[in-house]
Amino acid sequence: MAREVRTRFAPSPTGDLHVGNIRTALFDWAYAKHTDGKLIFRIEDTDRERVTDEYIARAVETMRWLGLQWDEGPEVGGPYGPYLQSQRLAIYTEWAERFLAQGDAYRCYCTPEELEARREKQRELNQAPGYDGQCRNLSESEISRFEAEGRKPTIRMRMPDGETRFSDLIRGEVVFEHKYVPDFVLMRGDGSPLYTLAVAVDDVLMKVTHILRGEDLLSSTPRQIRVYQAMGVKTEDFPFFAHLPFVMGQDNAKLSKRNGEVSIAWYREEGFLPEAICNYLALLGWSPGDDRENISMEELVQLFTVERVNSSPARFDMKKLEAINGDKIRALTLEDFLARALPFLVQAGVIKGADKEVALVKRALPLIQERIARMKEVVPMLRFLFVDSVEIELDSKGKMAEESAQHVLEKTLGVLEPLDVWSHESIEAAMRAALIEEMGLKPRVAFGPVRIAITGSHISPPLFESMELLGKESSLHRIRAAKI
Ligand code: GLU
Ligand code: ZN
Repeated sequence: MAREVRTRFAPSPTGDLHVGNIRTALFDWAYAKHTDGKLIFRIEDTDRERVTDEYIARAVETMRWLGLQWDEGPEVGGPYGPYLQSQRLAIYTEWAERFLAQGDAYRCYCTPEELEARREKQRELNQAPGYDGQCRNLSESEISRFEAEGRKPTIRMRMPDGETRFSDLIRGEVVFEHKYVPDFVLMRGDGSPLYTLAVAVDDVLMKVTHILRGEDLLSSTPRQIRVYQAMGVKTEDFPFFAHLPFVMGQDNAKLSKRNGEVSIAWYREEGFLPEAICNYLALLGWSPGDDRENISMEELVQLFTVERVNSSPARFDMKKLEAINGDKIRALTLEDFLARALPFLVQAGVIKGADKEVALVKRALPLIQERIARMKEVVPMLRFLFVDSVEIELDSKGKMAEESAQHVLEKTLGVLEPLDVWSHESIEAAMRAALIEEMGLKPRVAFGPVRIAITGSHISPPLFESMELLGKESSLHRIRAAKI
C-alpha cells in the first residue's frame, strides 16, 4: 500500500511571511489535500535571536487567515510533536551524539579564525571553498591538547567521496558531487543545532513523505540526504523532493524586498482577500492544464499535482493579482462583503461599529462592489457618509471655483429643495431635467461639481444613490457649503 502523503511547511519566521513562503505553504497544503494526506506545520526556530515569539504567532495567524489549515503543528498538536524546533533540542543532540558514536560525524576543534585563514588560502590557490577535513582523523593526543586549550568543538558530518543523486519531482534527476559538498557542521560549539541537522531529523521523525519548498534550498538537499543515511533511513524511504522555481519580481530579478516583495501583512492591510492571494499564487507557476485565471480553493485541491508545476521561474505581476482581487470582491455575498469591510472602516476611524452605522454601510456597499480592487478602498469611498462636512480634495478646488460649476450647484439646489420624495430616482430625474435637458450640459459637466460637493472627491460611489443615502438635509447642506 502506498504511504500516506505527509507534506510540511517549515518556515523560520524571522519576519512576516512573504509571497515566497505563502506559495510554498499553499502548494504543500494543496498537495496534502489533493492526496487526502496530511500537512505538517513546523516552526524552525532554532535561531531564537532572529525568530521571535511574535513572528511565530503572526505566521500561525497568517496561515489561518489564508485558510491553509494544517493537520499537525502549532495549536493543533499531533503525534510527532512538539512542532517547534526550539522545543526539540534534546532530540537533535541525541542524534548528533549517535552520529559521533557511529563514526558518521566527528568533533572539529578548528576556531573560526583558523577556518577563515584556511579559506583565505583556498581562495588564493583557487581551490574549491569549504572545510578541508583537517579534524577528520585527530589522534587522542591532539584531541586532549585541544580540550586542554578549552576549545569547544563543533560536530561535523563526514561526507564520503562520491556523489548524491536524487530525482526531484519538478527538476528531474539532480546530482551533487561531494567534492563540492564539504563536511558540514551539525552542532555548534555551544551545543545548538544547525538547520541541516534539525530539518533532516524532523522530516524523518515526522514521517514526511514530500518536501515541496523553494529552489533556494536545493543545494542543502545532499546534506539532508546524508543525515537520513546516518539515521539509518533506507533510500526507498527518503522523502520526495520538489523544489519550486523562484518567484521573480517585475524586473525579472528574484523576488526580494528590493523589487517589491513585501510581507503578506502588507497585502492584508491593502485589502487583498486571502482567496485572491491563493488564487493568484496557485496559478503562478502551476497550471491545471488550461489558461483559466480564476480558481477556487476547492478546485485547486481537486486539480493540484506536482507534475504540473512549471519548472521555470514565474513572474509576479501585481496588476494581475489586483484584477483577481477585484473579481473576488465582486463575487462576495453582501453579508461577506460587509464582514470584511467593517474592520477597514473601524480601523480607519470612519465608524465605531454602532448598529446604525453598520446598517448604512450595508446599504452603501452594493454601490461600490463593482468599483474597487482592494478592500481598503472602502475607506475613501464611504467616508463621506460618516462626516459632518466634507473637505473638497485639492485637485478639484479650482474646478469648483469656476463659474460653470457654481452655476450647476445653484441650479441643482433650486430643483432639489422642493423635492418631497428623496430617492435616487427622483433626484436623478430632477437634476437631469434641469441640467441636461434644460441647460444642455454634458453629464460630466452637470454632475461633476455636485459629486465633489457631496463626497469631496471626483471618485465616489454613484452620485444619486450617494445622495439618497446621505439624506436630503445633509446633501443640500453640502451643496450650499460648496457655493462661494
Ligand atoms: N526553515 C527553512 C526556511 O524558512 C525552510 C526549511 C525547508 O523547507 O526545508 O528557509
Ligand atoms: Zn576542524
